[in-house]
Amino acid sequence: MAALIPPRPDQGLGAGYHSPQVDVAVRLNTNESPYPPPQAWVDELAAAVTAIAFNRYPDRSATALRAGLAELHGVRPEQVFAANGSNEVLQVLLLTYGGPGRSVAVFEPTYALHSHIARLTGTAVATGDRAPDFTLDPGEVKRVLADADPAVTFLCSPNNPTGRADPRAVVTDVVDLAPGLVVVDEAYGQFAPWSAVELVDDDAGLAVVRTYSKTWSMAAARLGYVIGPASLVAEMEARALPYHLDAVKQAAGLLALRYRAEMDARVRAVAAERDRLFAALADLDLETWPSDANFILFRPRSRPSAEVWQGLLDRSVLVRNCNSWPGLDGCLRVTVGTPAEDDTFLAAVTEVL
Ligand code: PMP
Repeated sequence: MAALIPPRPDQGLGAGYHSPQVDVAVRLNTNESPYPPPQAWVDELAAAVTAIAFNRYPDRSATALRAGLAELHGVRPEQVFAANGSNEVLQVLLLTYGGPGRSVAVFEPTYALHSHIARLTGTAVATGDRAPDFTLDPGEVKRVLADADPAVTFLCSPNNPTGRADPRAVVTDVVDLAPGLVVVDEAYGQFAPWSAVELVDDDAGLAVVRTYSKTWSMAAARLGYVIGPASLVAEMEARALPYHLDAVKQAAGLLALRYRAEMDARVRAVAAERDRLFAALADLDLETWPSDANFILFRPRSRPSAEVWQGLLDRSVLVRNCNSWPGLDGCLRVTVGTPAEDDTFLAAVTEVL
């Protein structure tokens, strides 16, 4: 008789990665853009959707979208692979290059999905620590790479949740040292002073992951991509499910590229607002860390993070409690919102403290 058997035991799943989705007035917990995409994009997309042949499968290789992204980044279309959010890109990367007998290297604290997806794909996780200011520690990087011989080394620049971008020299040093592939997650790359995309080469073991979820204001669309060597893209395509990228999403992603000026303007506005928020937090009883992204990590000096998180929630402001994340005891992370949302947050956090 059929039996409801236990799930496979080798994935070492912990609590997973969830941010509570509660109904609040001010939602500053998941690093989205506080601004919707341009109305003209919505209208153009609605028109494009009416032209889709919905009885047919979509373009399996997303030809037009990849060509558009290649043009945006100055690479060839064969160097672009797109999927349903950068999380799925990371999953296909590790289906391709991780697996039993292989490991990834991560430097904590960093984006939890790198190690989570590694475990899901049966890949061992070798963990290094960041320096006390959360920058990469070159000695620690060297130690982890030498000890673990990882198939994939993850960098995250700017790093979620700590906020800083890695300088070019740090990334090139890791690329020189790493025995396997280096994956630079640039989910917040538009806020950074430089991009590792400029280092991508068909002969180098480097791939850069990007997303539409943040600065493109398209988190609901679930679209991300990787820029890497053409051979890496071909191997990933062979492992992605057939027709994994639906026609609506392909159209949405391609159309968005026409609104780059608006996207750049949003990045400038959010960065200016981040600097205002950072300055205001400096006046409170908190430790903060400088950010090159659209969020700020902070630690209340005299209140437990859970109490501050709950106090904010009681005032209808939702932030991320990072207390249980490696190396982040007592820390919270706030996403930069609109000036009005940030004022509400600042008033609430001042009251709670
Ligand atoms: N990478 C980083 C560093 C992130 O912070 C996020 C979103 N939290 C992602 C990847 C995933 O983004 P998405 O799947 O929406 O593209």
